[in-house]
This record gives sequence, structure tokens and C-alpha cells, in this order.
Amino acid sequence: MFENYNRKKLAILPTPIHKLERLSNYLNGPEIFIKRDDLTGLGLGGNKLRKLEFLIGDAMSKNCDTVITGGAEQSNHCRQTAAAAALAGLECHLILGGNEPHKANGNFLLDLLFNAKIHWTGEYRKGEKIPDISKELGKQGKNVYTIPYGGSNAIGALGYVYAVKELKIQMERYDLDFDTIVFATSSGGTHAGMTIGKRVFNLNPEIYGIKIDKDEIDNLKYKELLQKLCNKISVILNIEPINYNFNVNENFLGEGYGVVGNLEREAVNLCAKLEGIIVDPVYTGRAFGGMIDLVRKKYFKKGQKILFWHTGGFPSVFHYSKELLS
Ligand SMILES: *Cc1c(COP(=O)(O)O)cnc(C)c1O
Repeated sequence: MFENYNRKKLAILPTPIHKLERLSNYLNGPEIFIKRDDLTGLGLGGNKLRKLEFLIGDAMSKNCDTVITGGAEQSNHCRQTAAAAALAGLECHLILGGNEPHKANGNFLLDLLFNAKIHWTGEYRKGEKIPDISKELGKQGKNVYTIPYGGSNAIGALGYVYAVKELKIQMERYDLDFDTIVFATSSGGTHAGMTIGKRVFNLNPEIYGIKIDKDEIDNLKYKELLQKLCNKISVILNIEPINYNFNVNENFLGEGYGVVGNLEREAVNLCAKLEGIIVDPVYTGRAFGGMIDLVRKKYFKKGQKILFWHTGGFPSVFHYSKELLS
């Protein structure tokens, strides 16, 4: 079974599920539960570790000594990749958008502690320069493994195919039946993996992604990107590729990637003060804020059970202190 094939153990699994009692009461709508992929552990956790178990496993099986990936200055994906590489004994090169900040904090501080080598690429924050820099590292004699933006290729997405199996077991054990699973969707690996997992493991709930970034990767429409990714996962798992109807809500993009508005500020503060849980302003706070809005508009109703899948990201709150307290 592919589940254990070339998989490097990185995350603490299964992650817990519990009810957000005070938040559910406060909103007076559906019962809201949370799955804590913010607690996957290594390098302060997050959803990318599930993907990295398969990506780092693949890199090691190919005898690579170096991994390269890219993202924004406060990329959670890059921070988790750096931590995973540290544990696996691999050199890690991060291609980060922007210019070197005067003060290292949040995820970027952690990148440095995990001993990642940083390359700054100005306006490019989605790993556009990975191929060039990878080639250069190859010339220096390194055996480089490329991890795409967000870890979102078919191999990485396997992490979320099997996350659904984990969830299914928990739902059976605790006799929980959710109507909808809500989460932040961005580079697509989480969403595509869950979509395939829902099919393979017969999961009932709707998969409902709240998109947090308006820029299109490779100029593909997002649902096309998800479909292509699902087709590629199907090849690996040797299942028939079929067409999916993806739920992608694009109404909460605010002022753009990483810009904190009222929606994110309220969500971060509400979740913190009612539940003692930190959602991040870029991904999970935007999705959480979107979910709250959909509850207030009665799209998610009383009598339903909603699972918010927390995908991590909390180290970036230290970078956004001003915006979150204003
Ligand atoms: C990367 C990330 C996401 C989005 O996951 P994708 O697989 O890229 O769609 C959501 N939340 C957090 C905190 C992330 O770091």
C-alpha cells in the first residue's frame, strides 16, 4: 500500500478533534468542531508536514542530499520544510519573496534556526526561481530534490488523502457525523488530497475550501488546477480519474494575500478569546472569518455539524502584531 511507501515520519498523528463549545454558543448557529493540524508538532506544526512526509520520503529514496522550495517571507510551508529537512539531515534552500527584513521574526526566524539557506527573490513569492537556483546547486555537485510551491504536487497531496482516513476513523470512534469540512485552500494540495480521500475512504461530509489568495498559479483557474492535481493523484493510486465538483469560496480574498482586514482581525481575536486557540491572519484566520460570516448569513445553519480543519500557521501572528491589535 502506498500509505507507508517512502514515507518519512515527521508529524504527530492522529491530530485531535474537539468541539468549539464557546464559539458555537456565541454564534448560536451550527455546532462547530475543529481538527488540530496546527498540532502536527515538528517545527511548530501545520498542514505541510503531512505532505512533507511523502515528499521528504521520496527525496530520501532518491538519495538526494538537498531540498529546495519557495514561498513568501512568512511562508509556513517553507518553515515546515526547513524543519523536516533538519530532521532528515538534508540541506534546505528556501526561495523567499521580498527582501531580507531588518529583523527576523515569525516563520522567517524559525527558517534561520532550522539552518535553511535563504535566497531572496523580490516580487516572486511563489517559488518562480526554483528551477534556476536548483540548476545552480546541481552544478555545485548537490543532488537536489525540488518541492513545489506549497508542497502541492500529487506526491505531497497523498498526505491529505490519508488524513481523510485518519478523520474517518475518528468520526467512527467518536460517533461524529459532519455536514461540512471547512478549511483554507491556497496551493491546492490539501483540497485535492481531501477530495480523493473522500472518495477512496467513503467520507460523507462536503469538502468546502475557502480560498485565501487571489493570484492564480500558472494562470490556471483554481478548480482546473484542483482537477489536474486529482487526476495525477489518481494515477499514483491507480484509481480511475473522474471529474469532481469542487466547493471553492472566493468571497473572502479581502485586500489580497497576507493583508489583514477586519474579517481576519475579528476571527483571530474571537478564536483566541473564546477558545484559547490561535488562528493565523493569512490562512486559517481568513478561512475562520469566512466560516463565521457564512454562519451569520445562515449558510451554515443550526442543527448542522461543521468541522473546521485548522491547517496551522500560528508563527506568523508574531509578524502581524500591529495589525492584529489595532
Ligand atoms: C499552506 C497553508 C494552507 C493551504 O494549503 P494548500 O495545500 O496550499 O492549499 C492553509 N493553511 C495554512 C496555515 C497553510 O500554511
